[in-house]
Amino acid sequence: MPKTEHWQWYVEEFAPTEQHHHAIDTVYYAGRSQFQQVSIISSPVFGKMLILDGDTQSSQNDEKIYHETLVHPALAGAHDRSDVLILGGGEGATLREVLRRSDVKRCTMVDIDGLVVDLSKEYLPEWSDGAFDDPRARVIIGDALKFMREDNDRYGVIISDLTEPLEDSPSNILFNEDVFKLIKSRLTDDGIYVLQASTLGFHNLSLHAKMARTLMKHYKYVTSFYTAVPAFDNDWAFLACSDSVNLAKLDPAAVDQYCAALKGENFFYDGETHRRLFSLPLYVRRALAAQGPVFS
Ligand code: SAM
Repeated sequence: MPKTEHWQWYVEEFAPTEQHHHAIDTVYYAGRSQFQQVSIISSPVFGKMLILDGDTQSSQNDEKIYHETLVHPALAGAHDRSDVLILGGGEGATLREVLRRSDVKRCTMVDIDGLVVDLSKEYLPEWSDGAFDDPRARVIIGDALKFMREDNDRYGVIISDLTEPLEDSPSNILFNEDVFKLIKSRLTDDGIYVLQASTLGFHNLSLHAKMARTLMKHYKYVTSFYTAVPAFDNDWAFLACSDSVNLAKLDPAAVDQYCAALKGENFFYDGETHRRLFSLPLYVRRALAAQGPVFS
């Protein structure tokens, strides 16, 4: 490997005082869509990476950790997997994971940014792995909020794979009380809403706790789970929300049975991993139990 001074660097800034430097092998694309800054690069350690507004969205070498965690606990616990809705999900990997179950009859993915979807198809085809061409996939380019306001269907599982709700992000409008109510109204009575719910890193653990606290007002069970995602250089958190299913209580043997019916092999998730995902350290449990701000 050349010495550090010969490399160009992609510097991801988590906070004004926290950065991760990724050496760049190749820049495949760098430009601006109508909604966000889009870059596709490759790094020696993580392979190809999608970066939106300076935030790593996923990397070739560890995206399965993120996408299997986002999708499979919810699908494993769902009463009805036949109709699934994905909010966001640009790269197509969340769609890929959902469609690995043959009992999914339709999966709708709504992403606001057609450029991200097109670039993902062109430069990151490993992520979708044919999912965009699956006859069960319904891919809509549009705002997920507008879609949910106009669509009257109800889904057994809704998966939010949106960018972080930062002030200038197109996902910001999806994080407030009214939208959380709207999402619930689009779920079946025993449905599950699962979302990528930000970092558990010390620089912004409060955002995850704020999401959890807000959702606790809407659902009987709101469960945090997490794993390290190496390309994010952080523990990454997710939330599962339901009035009828507590995913933390899923039996690992039932998870293994669910996984055995998936097309192809998992990289990360199985019954044993499920147990670890839902086992939270004390400081996280304390942060979740504490009083604090909520989305209004
Ligand atoms: N893994 C990711 C992360 O770490 O934040 C999220 C992945 S995915 C690439 C996020 C997608 O959310 C993007 O493709 C973006 O275009 C989409 N998105 C943001 N706001 C949206 C909105 N209002 N409606 C639909 N899609 C949206």
